[in-house]
Amino acid sequence: MRLRTHIVTGGVIGFWIGGPLGGVLGAFSGAVPDVDLDVGSVARGARGLGALAIVGGTLGGYLLRSPWMIGIGLGGGFLLWMLIRLPHRGPTHSLALAVLWSLLGALLWKEPALAGAWAAGYLSHLLLDALTPQGIPWLWPLSAGRLRLAHWRTGSLWDHGILLLSGIAGLGLLSWRLLNG
Ligand SMILES: [Zn+2]
Repeated sequence: MRLRTHIVTGGVIGFWIGGPLGGVLGAFSGAVPDVDLDVGSVARGARGLGALAIVGGTLGGYLLRSPWMIGIGLGGGFLLWMLIRLPHRGPTHSLALAVLWSLLGALLWKEPALAGAWAAGYLSHLLLDALTPQGIPWLWPLSAGRLRLAHWRTGSLWDHGILLLSGIAGLGLLSWRLLNG
């Protein structure tokens, strides 16, 4: 599916689970698996983010005397650089990475609704990509077999339809929340 479909769907699901902040986290997590796309703004953004994590983590950790910060900055940054070199729809589109991502969310967000929105955004990405002919390597690294739930092509009417439905659901949720305080 297209990146905008992932961002909107992840955002709406996150919003439903965790409110406005949950929506932001869901949208972010919904986009993350495509960090392996080696073209365009996603890869450039991820490379920049990786560099920022490495430099920021090292400098900040040194200044604050926090080995944790240095470790997370270096580890996270290099992981990001490694991921963008992977084949598209590789390991980032597996259940194993979804579990790791959810664990990271549980560490970062003390509030269960926010951790839930974080995890759900990632899972929504895998589910949407599993609807396309390429499928996803859901059991990586155990198996290279791909899960395909449908044959809806990226950019097809189905893709547009899901984006439209997510947008309508998001507007409905927003107005429901505004009306009910
Ligand atoms: Zn994807």
